[in-house]
Amino acid sequence: MDELLDRFCRYVKVETTSAHDAVGCPSTPGQLELGRLIAEELRGLGLADVGIDEYGLVTATVPGNVEGAPTIAWLAHLDTSPDASGKGVQPTIHRNYDGQDIALAGDPSKVIRVAETDGLSELAGKTLITSDGTTLLGADDKAGAAVIMTAAATLMGDAAIEHGPIRVVFTVDEEIGQGTDRVDVAKLDATCAYTLDGVGEGLIENETFSADMATVTITGVSIHPGLAYGKMVNAIRVASEFVDRLPRDMAPETTEGRDGFLHVHTFEGNASQVKLQILLRSFVTGELETQAGILRDAAKAVTDAHPGADVQVRIKRSYRNMADSLARAPRTTALAVQAFQNIGVEPTFSSLRGGTDGARLTEAGLPTPNLSTGMHNFHSPLEFACLEEMQTAVKMLLELARLWGAQAPA
Ligand SMILES: [Zn+2]
Repeated sequence: MDELLDRFCRYVKVETTSAHDAVGCPSTPGQLELGRLIAEELRGLGLADVGIDEYGLVTATVPGNVEGAPTIAWLAHLDTSPDASGKGVQPTIHRNYDGQDIALAGDPSKVIRVAETDGLSELAGKTLITSDGTTLLGADDKAGAAVIMTAAATLMGDAAIEHGPIRVVFTVDEEIGQGTDRVDVAKLDATCAYTLDGVGEGLIENETFSADMATVTITGVSIHPGLAYGKMVNAIRVASEFVDRLPRDMAPETTEGRDGFLHVHTFEGNASQVKLQILLRSFVTGELETQAGILRDAAKAVTDAHPGADVQVRIKRSYRNMADSLARAPRTTALAVQAFQNIGVEPTFSSLRGGTDGARLTEAGLPTPNLSTGMHNFHSPLEFACLEEMQTAVKMLLELARLWGAQAPA
């Protein structure tokens, strides 16, 4: 499957780093460039309805070859993380990896160490791809893009695999939280979807946090400091006490696994007014209400202690744990499990302490778990991909297509 490796190397060489402060979409022009390249390749493979919109969102359909089977969708994102440079990526192929630390040629300080990298030693003998250490690799998510393109190419060339229509979707600006902004779920008209944006092999991510954001506005009493005796209420002091009242054992830095947290994300203002943004996170959606209660209690305590201060807590819904909705579409995960098992891989499940594009799509009515694609150490110059794990992801998608092809209509 050198086709897979060739595609991957071709995609990572296009600089598609997304940018937080950009105006317009996509946030950087390289994403459009890669989108056009992929759209051209999709046309070359003969997919139907190939399109790229003004924002760089690429869509196409592998037409089904069995009557009435449900439509499914595969998604990957074209951008790479702004956390590390993606300019001039030099993919370096390490065939028959020797199981030792990997020194990256372009920067002697960058070494992928066996001791610091979960599961690396088990990849001995496989083919790994790294950058030269001066950039990230971009396997997140170009491994996903290459895997989807290779699976689509295989289906287009092999009529023996019976499957329903498969929509392929390549999104932009996922790394800055806008990946699904322009995905039209109704137009996709799919029973379910899968994001190919997970680490390693055999992984199904079917649970994310449920999330809200609180904006806390603390208004004090301003007066000239020289005349302030007995009158001034300093909003910064009130806000500091407010933060101090939040449980320390309920912070991102003191929780892990399945515990939720309250994260003080921003603190801005002056003596007369301070605005805080606080992230509420839990795997149990109902616990967000408990977390909101903690904020309201803290607000009451500091207003009681500082007469004249005004504390407003406003809470906005962010996203919800996709496990809740996936439970109502059980085939989505069950067939993913079956597909892995049928190709001899026992899947593992993981709960993501964050959100995904899939969480937002799931909330919008399209059940979308996330699948592994062979990437590791993402968002870092130490990022690498394992070719054999990417091949497993392709096989899994083909088996998934076949299993869905045998399903009754939705
Ligand atoms: Zn990603």
